Amino acid sequence: MTPSSAYLMPTYARQPVSFSRGQGARLWDTQGIEYLDAIAGVAVTSLGHAHPEIAAVIAEQAGQLLHTSNLFRIEWQERLAERLCAVSGMQRAFFCNSGAEANEAALKLARLHGSARRVTDPQVLVMENSFHGRTLATLSATGNPAAQRGFEPLMPGFVRVPYDDIEALRDAARQFPGIVAVLVEPVQGEGGVRAASAGYLQALRQLCDAHDWLMMVDEVQTGLGRTGSWFGFQQAGIVPDVITLAKALGNGLPIGACLARGWAAELFSPGQHASTFGGNPLACRVACTVLDILAREQLPQRAATLGRRLLAALQEGLSGCPEVLAIRGLGLMVGIELNRQCPELVGRALEEQRLLITVTRGTTLRLLPPLICDDAQIDDIAARVIRLLA
Ligand SMILES: *Cc1c(COP(=O)(O)O)cnc(C)c1O
Repeated sequence: MTPSSAYLMPTYARQPVSFSRGQGARLWDTQGIEYLDAIAGVAVTSLGHAHPEIAAVIAEQAGQLLHTSNLFRIEWQERLAERLCAVSGMQRAFFCNSGAEANEAALKLARLHGSARRVTDPQVLVMENSFHGRTLATLSATGNPAAQRGFEPLMPGFVRVPYDDIEALRDAARQFPGIVAVLVEPVQGEGGVRAASAGYLQALRQLCDAHDWLMMVDEVQTGLGRTGSWFGFQQAGIVPDVITLAKALGNGLPIGACLARGWAAELFSPGQHASTFGGNPLACRVACTVLDILAREQLPQRAATLGRRLLAALQEGLSGCPEVLAIRGLGLMVGIELNRQCPELVGRALEEQRLLITVTRGTTLRLLPPLICDDAQIDDIAARVIRLLA
């Protein structure tokens, strides 16, 4: 019996291609055709496909223990928490299974913070064009009316301002005394690959200090080396109170984390938050191995170097292309904004260039190659994109 999509809820507009095997930055479809992967499962498989160390650790842990529940201590979870705190400057971790759940935990921390301060109508400051997930709370935090349509009533308690606009933050601080936290992406990925300026994140940090807001940074897409540093916020020289992680943490095995420091790290008490699957031995051991490999191979620094190489090649090769409005990026997070809607490019890239890309916001071609690409693969990605747009 050939598989059919008839039994799936039609939540995705999928490409008519299915992959059966991968290795590093390469993928093979069920017909045996080879592709180059420039999206890494949407910033997930940063170490590439079928990484032998990850595969070995999964097999070994599966033969030992998969799950015991959070009724008991879990050594791999404790190790992972300590390792993540060491690289991020945070002090405690809560583990879950996705980016949306990590943000849910952060939003619950914001509510507890407001409740401790006796704020009766607490608000979280969020940004236009942001993306924080698809659960009702994270969808409400997301700055995309099209994604929210039909799901009203949305969760109350958000104040929205334009992104990367310091004056708008100051206005909101004056206008809304109930703000208890801010949730912000260092680079808006789904929002078209837009990086906040360092000065913006610094101003945000100052406002959070001045008004006793929790500074919560959504690093679900930007975290773990993607932007050329361990975390995007580090490039602004600030330290948030809360950060959320997911995508690349398990290299494809589902795991998310909400990390916090100081007061924010002490807000939850037993019984206030939980996840059945969150932080199980398998996911945490795999994530520890991901961190080992990122550190050992200096992949955050490598992402910075490769990102510059990719950006330079694209800027040169697309300089004569009239429909390109902007080429921007940070590390291996690159966007090419066109002067028109271009969703068809995803299918054309697959078919004509054997290249996996995404398009966000309808007009921005987005590249998120695995961090383990070699120079030649980065050059190859650039060449295929240039041919695609030629
Ligand atoms: C992908 C993403 C999320 C949601 O993660 P899921 O695992 O799909 O729930 C949240 N925030 C950002 C910035 C993301 O890129």
